[in-house]
Amino acid sequence: MNTNDPTQLRSIQSVIDEHNLGYKIKDWQADGRVNYLTPAAAYAFAYMWKALIDAGYTRKDHLVLGNTYRTIETQNEIFDWDRYVRSGGSRTDQAKRPGTECYGTGGAAAAFPGTSNHGWGIAFDLNPAKKGTPPNPVSRWISHYGKEWGWTWAEGKNCSEIWHMKYKPDSKEWPTQPGPKPPRIK
Ligand SMILES: [Zn+2]
Repeated sequence: MNTNDPTQLRSIQSVIDEHNLGYKIKDWQADGRVNYLTPAAAYAFAYMWKALIDAGYTRKDHLVLGNTYRTIETQNEIFDWDRYVRSGGSRTDQAKRPGTECYGTGGAAAAFPGTSNHGWGIAFDLNPAKKGTPPNPVSRWISHYGKEWGWTWAEGKNCSEIWHMKYKPDSKEWPTQPGPKPPRIK
């Protein structure tokens, strides 16, 4: 899939509706955007989110969806090019320099444009996506139980982002966030 080709993606709501999961993802967003992921990631997300709701994680300040799929244009805007250049890179680089995986503006990490898993439609962020945000019961829950649906916090941990989850069912890394292990079921 090309990172500029959203036609290969599915909206999360279309999966929820197709599988009669009985909720509106917009009820769990900070904004009204339509969120897209790859078909497999959207399916895995829709069922995991339902499990969270069923388990009683319904606080609107905890269970809130931020970014999912991002276009490469958006990635260009949030990537910290100034910092990248200061570190020895060039604005004309076609591939990232090693060690520049987490160069976002605005206090959040962002990957080199074209390499973000948001651009591939296999990552989502919980809100608030801000440095210093402590783990909350939902981010901790996903770090413990997300593997049942193929979601891992490994990449988020590498960039010190408690909110960033990646769909990688074959991951070898399933780190868990600090704090008490939350219950699987209410
Ligand atoms: Zn992210």
